[in-house]
Amino acid sequence: SKTPVGFIGLGNMGTPMAKNLLRNGYPVIATDVFPESCKELQDTGAQVVDSPAEVAEKADRIITMLPSSPNVIEVYTGPNGILKKVKKGTLLIDSSTIDPAVSREMAVAAEKMGAVFMDAPVSGGVGAASMAKLTFMVGGVEEEYNAAQELLTCMGANVVYCGQVGTGQAAKICNNMLLAIGMIGTAETMNLGIRLGLDPKLLAKILNMSSGRCWSSDTYNPVPGVMEGVPSANNYQGGFGTTLMAKDLGLAQNTATNTKTPIPLGSLAHQIYRVMCSRGYANKDFSSVFQFLREEEGQ
Ligand code: NAD
Repeated sequence: SKTPVGFIGLGNMGTPMAKNLLRNGYPVIATDVFPESCKELQDTGAQVVDSPAEVAEKADRIITMLPSSPNVIEVYTGPNGILKKVKKGTLLIDSSTIDPAVSREMAVAAEKMGAVFMDAPVSGGVGAASMAKLTFMVGGVEEEYNAAQELLTCMGANVVYCGQVGTGQAAKICNNMLLAIGMIGTAETMNLGIRLGLDPKLLAKILNMSSGRCWSSDTYNPVPGVMEGVPSANNYQGGFGTTLMAKDLGLAQNTATNTKTPIPLGSLAHQIYRVMCSRGYANKDFSSVFQFLREEEGQ
């Protein structure tokens, strides 16, 4: 029988990911700061414990899926953190999207305790997490990659090795910066076309057979009524929150500053999503930038 896997952070993504480990026959030992977040996974058969340290006492492979860098620092190095009780040789996989510099710090701290830390952020939303269709971008020591891959393939369709620790985060941050730029570009383009008298469905169809086509135009169109089954068809509920996109663009900005890299459109996208967060769009899907642009222009 399989040895238990620890899972910390049972939010929108963590709960369906941990369920897929259970489905593949791995006993799961889980925890979250909010006990109510644990209910669904407990009902599915996971053992719920009180702290990350307790998870580390009971499991020698642990996955974390937390909102941002400070939560990861707390869960690994805090007073009840994983590293207080981690066993030698434990494999620690962080799938949160965080600053690559924090991933590298966690790897150093883990190594001091004789454990191995890898970053493995994901692309694909809650739907992909439920259907085990995520893409994992993995950074860390290559010799440990096979051990990580065994678990990640239970939760994802693509697992890609990127290089040393932190490079998984680098790939994820680059992807989301381009996603944000593409989404804002699609939203402003669609809005301009509508004001020029074009039917939005027809305009989307033309873009999608032309050189302006992108994921935001053909798979996740931000204009209500153009596509079904996307957040724009449901008042921008669910999906990928504006707050999380603003966080990822902040990470892009930090890494660009550290490497003296110009990212003019990434910076502008960051500020647009920051303003949206303070204007009532924080909990809407990030494609609500279309609605935001309409309101601004209408005033
Ligand atoms: P979420 O906020 O729904 O879940 C995070 C969970 O972590 C919450 O249940 C929270 O209570 C828990 N948590 C926070 N601090 C903790 C602590 N100190 N100890 C234990 N538990 C703690 O977030 P999510 O949507 O599941 O996203 C998680 C990560 O995945 C983020 O970094 C996000 O950017 C990334 N991501 C999300 C999506 C998406 O579509 N939602 C897609 C790709 C990547």
